[in-house]
Amino acid sequence: MAASDYASDRQVAMVMDLNKCIGCQTCSVACKTLWTRQEGMEGMWWNTVNTTPGQGTPRGYEGMGGGFRDGKPLPGHLPTQEEFGVAWQFNHEQVFYGGDPQAWLRPTGGDPQWGPNWDEDVGAGEYPNSYYFYVPRICNHCTRPACLEACPRAAIEKRREDGIVVINEDRCRGYQFCAEACPYKKIYYNTVRGISQKCVFCFPRLEQGVATACSRQCPGRVRFLGFLDDPEGPIHKLVYEWKVALPLHPEYETEPNVFYVPPFSAEAFDAEGRPSGEPRVPPQYLESLFGVGVNAALATLVRERERARSGHRSELMDLLIARRWLDMFSVFDKSPRDVERRLEDRANAAMSGGRPSGAPAEVRISVADSGARKRGGR
Ligand code: SF4
Ligand code: SF4
Repeated sequence: MAASDYASDRQVAMVMDLNKCIGCQTCSVACKTLWTRQEGMEGMWWNTVNTTPGQGTPRGYEGMGGGFRDGKPLPGHLPTQEEFGVAWQFNHEQVFYGGDPQAWLRPTGGDPQWGPNWDEDVGAGEYPNSYYFYVPRICNHCTRPACLEACPRAAIEKRREDGIVVINEDRCRGYQFCAEACPYKKIYYNTVRGISQKCVFCFPRLEQGVATACSRQCPGRVRFLGFLDDPEGPIHKLVYEWKVALPLHPEYETEPNVFYVPPFSAEAFDAEGRPSGEPRVPPQYLESLFGVGVNAALATLVRERERARSGHRSELMDLLIARRWLDMFSVFDKSPRDVERRLEDRANAAMSGGRPSGAPAEVRISVADSGARKRGGR
């Protein structure tokens, strides 16, 4: 399949500033709450936040193949449930209602060996030069989606209007060639429905001008949203003008549309415990994640940070600080509640003859309302 067969007219994208991510998992929970609470989705975390360096989710995903090399598809491994980490139950009943003040929360029914956030805050390096940072990950809604090209049922679509990659659940038969082919391992298997599912970039919200749930809920103001071709939006400025936002693992050749502002490094200590002037996070490690462009990006970030520190105005620092929260979302700055009210009013006005008021299910900006099932993806 030629990339021109599925090229979109526009591309929506996200930039995550890794210098502001505190690893709180609010984004993961926001996504879980909105999209993956049904039966068969227990082990799905469309949004994950992993301590980096680390094994990631699924465990060791960076060594599982998939994607392309020199334009040709690479074979990939299909991650097992165990590599993703099974969802285990906790003894909530006993702790909260059992009447035993000594009871403490612990997993029940087995001895889990891995989970989506298993190596939290472990990182790498020897004390006092240990280091880590957090990398939140969603489906990258790639410009060249390996998942789409691998599907023999043509069940994966790249939406022409915004480039969001969705799975048509009516067409999917659960073969999971997509999950093998995706080098980021961001496709999950619904064990009850026998289909593949993944992040839908909250397209029902975006269609109403509302930012993704992970973006709005993030307390760190990490996530910027917008169209790549909007010169007034933060994405265009960070990716193309300032060139400080880079895709993760560009060598996978899927052309991701999620970009990262790389992390500043603390200074390493020398053998006498004095600041050495060297970065604690090895530059080679950052290159292995974001490509060699990370060095120029970090140089720009350091330069602009110094500029701001010395009292001068830095457009880049102003942009990254995001004093006005809604500016991060460009055209997706509507409040979900306002949109729900507007849609509810419109639906009520269209109805007559004693129908009960309240938002009909199809107009809520929530998992039940989205129409995602009808239109592909969840
Ligand atoms: S990240 Fe994976 S699942 Fe998402 S569009 Fe790219 S190849 Fe497909
Ligand atoms: S992206 Fe935001 S919500 Fe998610 S872990 Fe980082 S700070 Fe928390």
